Amino acid sequence: MTEAKISSKAAPVRFDGVSKVFGKNVVAVDSIDLHVEAGKLVTLLGPSGCGKTTTLRMIAGLEMASSGTISIGDRDVTKLPATDRDVSMVFQSYALFPHMSVLENVTYGLTFSGFAKDEARARALAGLDLVGLKGFDARLPSELSGGQQQRVAVARALVLEPQVLLFDEPLSNLDAKLRRQVREDIRAIQKDLGLTVVYVTHDQEEALAVSDEIVVMRNAAIAQMGTPRQLYDAPNDRFVADFIGEANLIACEIEDVQDDEATIAIGGYRYRLPSRGLGRGPATLAVRPSRIALGASDGIVATVAKATYVGERMEYTLTGEFGQVFAVLDDVDAPLEPGSQTTMAFARKGPVLLPEEGPPAA
Ligand code: ADP
Ligand code: MG
Repeated sequence: MTEAKISSKAAPVRFDGVSKVFGKNVVAVDSIDLHVEAGKLVTLLGPSGCGKTTTLRMIAGLEMASSGTISIGDRDVTKLPATDRDVSMVFQSYALFPHMSVLENVTYGLTFSGFAKDEARARALAGLDLVGLKGFDARLPSELSGGQQQRVAVARALVLEPQVLLFDEPLSNLDAKLRRQVREDIRAIQKDLGLTVVYVTHDQEEALAVSDEIVVMRNAAIAQMGTPRQLYDAPNDRFVADFIGEANLIACEIEDVQDDEATIAIGGYRYRLPSRGLGRGPATLAVRPSRIALGASDGIVATVAKATYVGERMEYTLTGEFGQVFAVLDDVDAPLEPGSQTTMAFARKGPVLLPEEGPPAA
């Protein structure tokens, strides 16, 4: 594998025990430790209100930390105002100047930070080229589509070549098709230039698609961080299992553990999987909808409560002594009828054990 490129200006970001309290008692961020490597794209993912934007704004210097230290590169920036940090942010609302042309919008920050007129113009044109907007420089923002306006906002931030580039839900004003394209473009540019990017979203699919690493946040704290694969395959708890991809959370009993392998029981059904440090007793099994097989002779008795044909696959809701489970199957040729009986079993790989207790799923 080739070494990933890192831009000469890209810097790591570090939070040590950083908190942000608004007013007397709104704890928006609660003592988080975070390390973003130079040249990586790290996503802050979590439900609305969990502290993502506040975390991002503290990197930018638009909010000051109430306690803890923040560093960018080898500089302690905890007390530095936004104007003294080498960071740019792309906002959800684009925040373009409506009366300025595309080129003027992109040139503005460059002139402001001291580039001579010709140099600023050359850089702005190169930035527009990079985001696929060559030839659009004379237009007004109102003459562009939402996706194009967002690209201008990206170009405007990129041309400043910041140590860290921040995105706060950059795709939320775009329709579904554009969202996919713009997120791929952002990821491609980030990788090509080797930029350090911190990216905020509440959309797990978007996070899985663009990130080197994902930081899952819950109630002002970090629930878990890791690569998309690590979070998907080995969530720490019910919250993460359900937030990253969809998971059925099924109550089970660990009957036995040997050599890190647990045997679990769900009614009369037995299944073996890694114990992940858990011992005997009640636990939770997290099973992705695609990891369920129907009709096996040793499965759990289940009733088909709902069956929906969605083109390339069938979606079933199953009920039984395990509660309710959502399953997705590729076999569309002989669909099961609602009301019919079947049996449910789990794929050899995929399901993971979680502690029984844990915060409720979001
Ligand atoms: P997210 O971006 O994850 O939706 P935010 O970081 O915007 O969450 O907000 C986290 C918490 O802090 C929320 O409870 C929010 O209401 C509160 N909050 C954010 N900004 C302020 C502010 N300026 N004053 C008071 N409370 C705020
Ligand atoms: Mg937010």
